[in-house]
Amino acid sequence: MSDETGAVADAGERVAIGIAFGNSSSSIAFTTSDGKAEVIANEEGDRQIPSILSYVDKEEFHGTQAKAQLIRNSKNTVAYFRDYLGKDFKSIDPTPSHQSAHPQQIDSTVAFSVHDTDSEAPSTVTVSEVTTRHFRRLKQSASDFLGKTVNAAVITVPTNFSDSQREALIAAAKNADIEVLQLIHEPAAALLAYDARPEAVVEDKLVVVADLGGIRSDVAVVASRGGMYTILATVHDYELGGANLDQVVIDYFAKEFIKKHKVDPREDPRGLAKLKAEGEATKKALSIGTNATLSIESLTNGIDYGSTINRTRYELLAGKVFSQFTSLIQSAVKKAELDILDIDEVILAGGTSHTPKIARLLESVFPEKTTILAPATSPTAINPSELAARGAAYQASLIQEFDAEDIEQSIHPMVTVTPHLSSAIGVQLVSAAEDAVFRPLVINRTALPARRVAQYLAPKEGGDVLVRITEGVRDIKVTKPEPIVKDKKEQEEEDSDEDFTSDEEEEEDIREVVWKATKPIAEVAIKGVKAGGKIEVTININSDLGAQITAREVGGKGGVRLAVES
Ligand code: ATP
Repeated sequence: MSDETGAVADAGERVAIGIAFGNSSSSIAFTTSDGKAEVIANEEGDRQIPSILSYVDKEEFHGTQAKAQLIRNSKNTVAYFRDYLGKDFKSIDPTPSHQSAHPQQIDSTVAFSVHDTDSEAPSTVTVSEVTTRHFRRLKQSASDFLGKTVNAAVITVPTNFSDSQREALIAAAKNADIEVLQLIHEPAAALLAYDARPEAVVEDKLVVVADLGGIRSDVAVVASRGGMYTILATVHDYELGGANLDQVVIDYFAKEFIKKHKVDPREDPRGLAKLKAEGEATKKALSIGTNATLSIESLTNGIDYGSTINRTRYELLAGKVFSQFTSLIQSAVKKAELDILDIDEVILAGGTSHTPKIARLLESVFPEKTTILAPATSPTAINPSELAARGAAYQASLIQEFDAEDIEQSIHPMVTVTPHLSSAIGVQLVSAAEDAVFRPLVINRTALPARRVAQYLAPKEGGDVLVRITEGVRDIKVTKPEPIVKDKKEQEEEDSDEDFTSDEEEEEDIREVVWKATKPIAEVAIKGVKAGGKIEVTININSDLGAQITAREVGGKGGVRLAVES
């Protein structure tokens, strides 16, 4: 097999990559020989490759070059097409394509009319064909980089991609000579990007993956237990993404321009396209710097325009959009019937997650113990724009050796059919002198079978200790804060400025997670534990809910083993 570069893959050899395919941009990634996933830059040096194709004198432009054509050649430029794939024309929302080739109905599917050949008349290109051409370009970039023809891929899709969307995607990739090994959910890919790193320590955790893209936002709440992911809830907003933030910047500069020149550049299609392109670049610059400039030649009526905006002003103007992102994330947690106190990690994925203010707002929404994995809030965060492609690349390297049947088996949604623990199982250490606190050992929603080992400090004075294994539930304890006692002067000052301070002064309730033991399962006595000693408990729970429990004093002799029937 050979491609245009002449690069050859051995017959039968699979050369697989990960592809993140978004409406705004796509990324391609591979795994290195030492097991690390890396995103590939295309020939223009882009790692986020705009999912755009444009035709000029029958020549095809792709990525950033095609994006530039949105200004002069918008009718021959196809953009934001992923969500049209595999859909009935009647069910699509064509709004994102207002400033590019318009989607049309061909039979019942979606197509575009573009001048991509010599002929005078435009051709009709279906969205499937557009996707195939896009994949060909991605495949070519990856093959050039790897020096071998890529012929297989794991591709990421939103959690709510329908069967017909999945089928259309697989067929479009096949037409580009890419065998789809697997379609994986975007949040699972983002989690994998963190968990499959060679240095990662995989722990049981409840994670929110917030994928904030260009024209939509998707949030998933995922339970990660023993390396298995269960999606507990998802929410989607098709009208919220980076484009809303671009609009804030566009409106700001447009208003400034109107003040000076008494004309609205947004009413001139080319002016609007220029403002969109430069406004987006300005917005991105504000993720790094505290000031950003915008400079546009001949914005409208031949008038050149240049100005600056600082981050504080931008964050003020974008406040409403930012809070839509945080509300969406909170609504996902609620939908999963969880409390924000239950969440261990928030993974911010997608280009818009570079925005520092969004990550900071989430820090104030979630408790301190919750890690917000974004560039602005965590030094160990992975570039949010690269998460999906990296996760897909890890998955591709894991399964590329499997034959089709094995892959089929391995992707059967194990997560939904495996038995799960409905209550948590935990340990209480009971001695004469201490109250038995419930400590969770295996958290509810853990996929079975499961094995856990934990060590606990024995009651201080040691002696005979009863280890009680019990079911438990978590509750949220709400306490009112102590009222702040003010002296007379402070009270007078506050009264004179009531409107201003009353909101801030209101102390919030203190909310904390508390566990309660509900139903004892087994008890084990360990005699003569040393003062200051530790007790180790091991539990194996089978799929039929039967369990084997071992308890022993760390460093002590023997231990107690016991089996519990389901
Ligand atoms: P969708 O399908 O929703 O369009 P996508 O996966 O194609 O999503 P992404 O590449 O994840 O899109 O995100 C694109 C958005 O991210 C754009 O609005 C872009 O302006 C924004 N973005 C990219 N980099 C940054 C940055 N550094 N700061 C702020 N926003 C950014």
